Amino acid sequence: MAEKINHKATGKPAGRRADKHPGKPAGAPSARTQAAHPKRQQQGKTQASVGSTSSSHRRQYPANKPAAASAENVKVGDRIIVTIKRIGINGEGVGYYRRKAVFIDGALTDEVIKAKVTRVESGYLNAEILEIEKRSPERQEPPCPVYGICGGCQLQHMTYGAQLQAKEEIVRESFRRYARLEELPLRPIIGMDNPWGYRNKAQMQAGREGEDIIAGLYAAGSHRLIDISGCPIQHPVVNRVIEQVKEVMEELDIPVYNERTREGAVRTIVARVGQTSGKVQLTFITSTDRLPDSRRMVEKIRERLPMVTTIAHNIHKGKSPLVFGNKTVLLWGADQLEESLGDVKFALSPRAFFQLNPEQTVKLYNAVQEAAGLTGAELVVDAYCGTGTIGLWLAPLAYEVRGIELIPEAVLDARDNAKSSGVDNASFYEGRAEQLLPDWVSNGIRPDIVVVDPPRTGCERPLLDAIVRAKPKRLVYVSCNPATLAKDCQVLLSGGYKIEWVQPVDMFPQTSHVECCSLLVRND
Ligand code: SAH
Repeated sequence: MAEKINHKATGKPAGRRADKHPGKPAGAPSARTQAAHPKRQQQGKTQASVGSTSSSHRRQYPANKPAAASAENVKVGDRIIVTIKRIGINGEGVGYYRRKAVFIDGALTDEVIKAKVTRVESGYLNAEILEIEKRSPERQEPPCPVYGICGGCQLQHMTYGAQLQAKEEIVRESFRRYARLEELPLRPIIGMDNPWGYRNKAQMQAGREGEDIIAGLYAAGSHRLIDISGCPIQHPVVNRVIEQVKEVMEELDIPVYNERTREGAVRTIVARVGQTSGKVQLTFITSTDRLPDSRRMVEKIRERLPMVTTIAHNIHKGKSPLVFGNKTVLLWGADQLEESLGDVKFALSPRAFFQLNPEQTVKLYNAVQEAAGLTGAELVVDAYCGTGTIGLWLAPLAYEVRGIELIPEAVLDARDNAKSSGVDNASFYEGRAEQLLPDWVSNGIRPDIVVVDPPRTGCERPLLDAIVRAKPKRLVYVSCNPATLAKDCQVLLSGGYKIEWVQPVDMFPQTSHVECCSLLVRND
């Protein structure tokens, strides 16, 4: 099922929005979008009925029963009053009801929330907002009409300043909880001057609604496709390309893939912009070997979108949740998109991974460079190196860099990127960090600096053990998940390391994600 939500003037700067059909009347965002979602509840009183005035009603709340009553008696449907203490790792408000944690989607720190219990677990409660009794001054109107439905952003209902504060608190809380550290040397988070329009790549699922072709994301936890026009965190050029591509597909009546019937062709439209060049790489992912009417599609896109320099076709027939399939065919233009970060040059094929927020990536890598404290004499291991970005950033300052990466294509890309950036002291190895580094250490290799940048699950224990055995004088831990970062740090702390500093960087404004670069040094 598909739902289309037209944009209404929201007071956003022009250029961040692109109405899907400027000629068609723009309907108001649906009531569901505007009122019913907790994150959209802007006023002190929400539109959800609580059945009575708050003062007379409040007496019935378990919160006002004698203090001896325990949270064990709470049932789904009960109404409770909760003061929000902090923002949780998924952007939800966290408070306590009779010492039990309560998670309330869309609630902000210091707000007093009248809420309905939706889930009771032994360690926590989930509840939804009925009414905001005390409203935070940091609450704001989310600029995006599909906020709370598309699931991509979690923090648009708070000011950017409050988002940054919440992210620092998420990091502190993770270390408290998972590393038992009360005093964390946490540096102030590095935010963006303009926390909008930063994402360099859109991956939109294609769908149909009547005559219209729509493209967007599935609503959180469902198969309902939400049309996204002019996503405010996406680079404006990427938005423009997606809008025009939808129109071209509509004009040529290109069949889109239907998840249910498994018929049709185009599943996903991917557009990626190079921040330095402004050029765009466009890829159609289909469930079929052929992209119908591709010649005319290429013609029309070239006519309307001169910034598109690559049009590629990727075939993904299976049911796998991965976006790309294995086979990519170039329909027109350059086979790679040129991109650079500082002095490091990248040539990106359509499937190649690249950081989504280049502006903040440079700030992150500068923190990594500071943490590494290189003098030119060091052997650096870049574990989980992807396409070699961090290793290549550090190579000009080091004696030697050795990267380790699981995905063979990424290793090849890393080697190519080294060549095109004129780096000759970096080598890249295919394998598992938790196998290769312990092997190297057993063979007497002693890195001076180890950089790790693992996926959300964190580092495997054998890797942490090998680091403790090899005793590099500095360990730089880049992490996109403060919980696994803190857990891994606990192992390293008991292995003789201490945390010198933790630098959070806001790579994904408006979302609850937070990236950190941490420096750990030997105690001895
Ligand atoms: N440092 C890179 C990429 C980080 S993403 C950058 O900044 O761009 C994490 C990378 O770790 C991915 O490329 C993933 O393929 C790789 N990876 C995942 N598990 C791994 C493992 N066990 N050993 C080595 N690499 C792994």
